[in-house]
Amino acid sequence: MYIYNSATRKKELFTPHTEGKVKMYTCGPTVYHYAHIGNLRTYIMEDVLEKYLRFSGYDVKRVMNITDVGHLTSDGDTGDDKMVKGAKREHKTVMEIAQFYTDAFFDDCRKLNIKTPDVVEPATHCIDEFIKVISSLMEKGYAYEAGGNIYFDTSKLDKYYIFNDFSEEDLAVGVREGVEADDNKRNKADFVLWFTKSKFDDQELKWDSPWGIGYPGWHIECSCISMKHLGEYLDLHCGGIDNQFPHHTNEIAQSEAFLGHEWCKYWFHVHHLNTDTGKMSKSSGEFLTVSLLQEKGYDPLVYRFFCLQSHYRKNLMFSWENLDNAADAYKKLTERVMKVLGGKGGTVDTAKYDELKKGFTDALDGDMNTAQAITSLYDILKSDADDATKYKLIDDIDTVLSIGLIPAAEKLAAAKGNTENDELPAEVTELLEQRKAARKEKNFALADELRSKITALGYIVEETRQGTVVRKA
Ligand code: AMP
Ligand code: ZN
Repeated sequence: MYIYNSATRKKELFTPHTEGKVKMYTCGPTVYHYAHIGNLRTYIMEDVLEKYLRFSGYDVKRVMNITDVGHLTSDGDTGDDKMVKGAKREHKTVMEIAQFYTDAFFDDCRKLNIKTPDVVEPATHCIDEFIKVISSLMEKGYAYEAGGNIYFDTSKLDKYYIFNDFSEEDLAVGVREGVEADDNKRNKADFVLWFTKSKFDDQELKWDSPWGIGYPGWHIECSCISMKHLGEYLDLHCGGIDNQFPHHTNEIAQSEAFLGHEWCKYWFHVHHLNTDTGKMSKSSGEFLTVSLLQEKGYDPLVYRFFCLQSHYRKNLMFSWENLDNAADAYKKLTERVMKVLGGKGGTVDTAKYDELKKGFTDALDGDMNTAQAITSLYDILKSDADDATKYKLIDDIDTVLSIGLIPAAEKLAAAKGNTENDELPAEVTELLEQRKAARKEKNFALADELRSKITALGYIVEETRQGTVVRKA
């Protein structure tokens, strides 16, 4: 498999440290609010990557952190603590907020067929590990105490910037924009490993440490949680593109200073989901959640399909029109899959299976080209293979893409069976047409009114993944 490695800025043949085994780490959510569908784009693409590695025969161990302490409103060391801010907003404790939004995150993942990583570790469970690594960095001279906080000294490294060509000057601009300059830092790029209460007094969760009562910085958690569960050599580290700097840059600095050798070989970054007003973000106020998509009548798996239609290294533009187009394409694909359902359990033509599977593996082996992987599904369905072979291919490939094709096709077939015997009265057909137009214009109030009229005539209207289905009540 070839994969683009952000650290070398090249597509490279993926060769893990130990043959056949992959140690994979993913930056998890900061659980102060719901995940927006931009965050979830990143988790969907990482999920496909993990599942494809397994599909290719690797034994994968994947670890993810839950950030429940230490992430400030800037990704550097300025601003308020996001968790404390969330708790104040909802008049709850930080731990209540963390539990609530962790559960909400995994609910969204379930709806999107995103597998839970093998290990999920909240940062607040690993305070001892953070203290151990920070103490070692102090001993080795990579960290210093100033104004009550412990900082990593970036001037001690031969190379600090990994993913981009930032300079001290760029950082100075950042500091100007962020208003707050931290006079304790010896170098502009230095970052906090441990805060003491001298910096943020309203922090709810604090722990004793050799440097006073306080709490960890954000970056140290990912290094420590990864090393705790995956050891000294990490194969693959994932996250959204905004994590490259400063988060991942700082993770590399402190991990390699601690270990004394290279830490992680491949860095996989997913580009952003944007709207016409820019990057989708929680700080900008309005953001879209999976529940909101559902309220508007979209199946979450249509959103997953929408994400897979684009390459992970390109920004993806979200609009309702684009999502509607994905919904139409998904419906057409499901209708085609429905035609091969009869092939379930039949004898598979293995030569044909291998030949057609290659279209799919070539796509994902070429730096995770998921759009091409979807095209390979159409190629399979159009091919001269028999239905048993087609069915098996779709079923197997969907263990990676996870867009629920077979269940959706089965549901569609069942719904068709229900309606085929009943000719719809002209009046119902007319109301359905009007309702379709109302939904297209996003006039949901009118659409609901028309649905009530259809119900009054003795018919049930259902929105399914395959579109609107009508049956006798
Ligand atoms: P957070 O919960 O803020 O720590 O972010 C969780 C993940 O979502 C991180 O890997 C981010 O890099 C990623 N992310 C944040 N915003 C977006 C976006 N608009 N599109 C895609 N991924 C994003
Ligand atoms: Zn991280």
